[in-house]
Amino acid sequence: MAGAEVTEVAVVGGGPAGLSAALAARQAGAKVIVVDENAAPGGQLRKQIHKFFGSKEHHAGRRGFRIAEELVAACREQGVELWTDTLAYGIFDHTLGIVRGGTASTLAARSIVLATGASENALAFPGCTLPGVMGAGAAQTFINLHRVLPGRRALIVGAGNVGLIITYQLLQAGAEVLGVVEAAPRIGGYAVHAAKIRRAGVPIYTRHTVLNAAGHGELEEVTIAALDENGWPIAGSERTFAIDLLCLAVGLTPLTELAWQAGCLFEYCGPLGGHVPLHSEDMETTVPGLFVAGDMAGVEEASTALEEGRLAGLAAAAYAGYRSPNLEEEKAAARERLQALRSGPFGEGRYLAHEEIVRRWLKWRDAR
Ligand SMILES: Cc1cc2nc3c(=O)[nH]c(=O)nc-3n(C[C@H](O)[C@H](O)[C@H](O)COP(=O)(O)OP(=O)(O)OC[C@H]3O[C@@H](n4cnc5c(N)ncnc54)[C@H](O)[C@@H]3O)c2cc1C
Repeated sequence: MAGAEVTEVAVVGGGPAGLSAALAARQAGAKVIVVDENAAPGGQLRKQIHKFFGSKEHHAGRRGFRIAEELVAACREQGVELWTDTLAYGIFDHTLGIVRGGTASTLAARSIVLATGASENALAFPGCTLPGVMGAGAAQTFINLHRVLPGRRALIVGAGNVGLIITYQLLQAGAEVLGVVEAAPRIGGYAVHAAKIRRAGVPIYTRHTVLNAAGHGELEEVTIAALDENGWPIAGSERTFAIDLLCLAVGLTPLTELAWQAGCLFEYCGPLGGHVPLHSEDMETTVPGLFVAGDMAGVEEASTALEEGRLAGLAAAAYAGYRSPNLEEEKAAARERLQALRSGPFGEGRYLAHEEIVRRWLKWRDAR
């Protein structure tokens, strides 16, 4: 094992949440190191070639990978150390076990921000392990990072934003998309994304599911069926598509292993994607000095990840002894922006869910 490193604030994950946390902590005066397992920082943003929606304040109209470039440049300019190709495999008190460029070592910090993002959900059906069946995020990595088309004739499962976005990105990359299959009675993503793919002639089959996939050593066909009121396939409604790519966009689950290992208390929260660590308004967990932000604290969007990261970074720096001169005002402003982001029809359930997580954290604190 190589030598141990020490910093004031360590951030695990170089996506929007982690970079925003790092920037806030650094601006407060702390020495900050970000570790990310990928070859370049940016997290999911690196794959996002589409323009963001929402408010100007949250980068609306700008492409995700450009937002990542700016965040990375700002971090570098401020003196944040960005360690890429560095995996944090464990957390032992305030020390991270890391593998950096293939060599194991440790990184100790006064405070730590976990911003590890989320993992894609799978779906089980006969043939689901055939090559050609993959997560929508995997397909996005193929197309937008590696410039490789993972298939020529595709079907997408899931009509949330991720499913709708991967549909038009596959179309842009030259694939034929034969349809989007959605078990719910209506589309879950933004109407504007759905309109775009419908204009391109892609049908959206609501109240449908995948029955099975088949092929000799690789995906060759997929059969779907309509669902009745109780969610059972309707006999006779089956239709089979000859395809070589099936993308699953059926939700994300917070990537929380490090927080479990650290001993954080958790709560199951459906609207946030699964088990999430209890945390305060400042994003501090039930382990003092350990903060969380972004999708790992509840699956949402890059805009909310940026604001949560800012809160976590400010609080982590304060914990490490670096109070930003306007700490309370800055935190209040970030919370207000978060509340605004969660005020729309898509955000309300998540707003209430986050409120509940904070309420439980307060209950835990008061019981100590
Ligand atoms: C197809 C698609 C389209 C989207 N479009 C939009 C949009 O238009 N607008 C919007 O606001 N949001 C959008 N989102 C959502 C947005 O991308 C995420 O909510 C956001 O990236 C979450 O940020 P994060 O920093 O929490 O996680 P991530 O961006 O996932 O970053 C986490 C990083 O941590 C790294 N990591 C994880 N574990 C470790 C470890 N143990 N050691 C080291 N590194 C680790 C990961 O490799 C990753 O780089 C979209 C998502 C998808 C999938």
